[in-house]
Amino acid sequence: MRIVLVGPPGAGKGTQAQFISSHLSVPKISTGDIFRANVSGNTPLGRKAKEFMDRGDLVPDEVTIAMVRDRLAEDDAREGFLLDGFPRNVPQAETLKKILAEMDLRLDLVLELVVDDDEVVRRLSGRRTCRKCGRIWHVAFDPPSKEGVCDVCGGELFQRDDDREETIRHRLEVYQEQTAPLASFYADEGILVGLDATGPVEEVTERALAALRPFTE
Ligand code: ADP
Ligand code: ADP
Repeated sequence: MRIVLVGPPGAGKGTQAQFISSHLSVPKISTGDIFRANVSGNTPLGRKAKEFMDRGDLVPDEVTIAMVRDRLAEDDAREGFLLDGFPRNVPQAETLKKILAEMDLRLDLVLELVVDDDEVVRRLSGRRTCRKCGRIWHVAFDPPSKEGVCDVCGGELFQRDDDREETIRHRLEVYQEQTAPLASFYADEGILVGLDATGPVEEVTERALAALRPFTE
C-alpha cells in the first residue's frame, strides 16, 4: 500500500506511522526524520535544511523533492510505503503524483489526522524523541517508565529545537497556509479519508486501521 499521512504538527503522524508501517510491513518515510538525521550529521543536505527548520518554515521544494525521489527509489519502498510529513504543499503533491506515475504507480490513500490547535500545542510542548531509535514519547500523555530514557532501547530522550512555543505557533500558520490545501487536492483525487485524531493513541490507531481495512482485506 502507498499511504500519506497529513495533519498539523503534533497531530500524531509520527506516532501513528510507527504502528501503521509495522502493521502493513511497509517502510515509514518521514521527511522530518531524514532532515534531522542530516542536520545531526552536518551533511550538505542538513546544512541547507537547518535554517528553515529552526524557523519552522518549509525547506525549499527542490531540496525536499530530490531527497524524497531518492528515498522512493530504494528497494524497500518498491512494494509500498507510508509517507509522514510529505507532501506538505500542493506543488510537492503534484510532483509526487508525477514521480509515481513514471513508475506506473499511484497513492492508495491519504489519511488526514484532525485535531484542534490547543491539543497540538499540548502535544508538541511535551514531546520527547529518542536519540537512538526515534521512538516518540510525551512527558504526560505517553511517558517512559524512567524520565529521559527510552523504554524501547535505553536511548536518551531529547526535546526538538522547533518545539518551542513561538516556533510552534509559526509552524501552525505555515500548516494553515501551505499544507491544509492538500485536503481538497486529495479529496478531488478521491483518496482522502479524515481521521479524528483526538483521544488516546490506541484509539486513534484503531480508527486508522479501520480506515485501511478495505485495502488490506
Ligand atoms: P512535525 O512532525 O512536527 O509536523 P516534521 O518532523 O514533519 O514536523 O518536520 C520538521 C521540519 O522539517 C518542518 O518544520 C520543515 O522545516 C521540515 N520539513 C519536513 N518535511 C518537509 C517537507 N515535506 N517540505 C518542506 N519541509 C519539510
Ligand atoms: P507529528 O508527527 O504529527 O508532529 P507526533 O506523533 O510526534 O506528531 O506526536 C506529537 C506528540 O503528541 C508526541 O509527544 C506524542 O507522544 C503525543 N501524542 C501523539 N498522539 C497522541 C494522542 N492520541 N494523545 C496524546 N498525545 C499524543
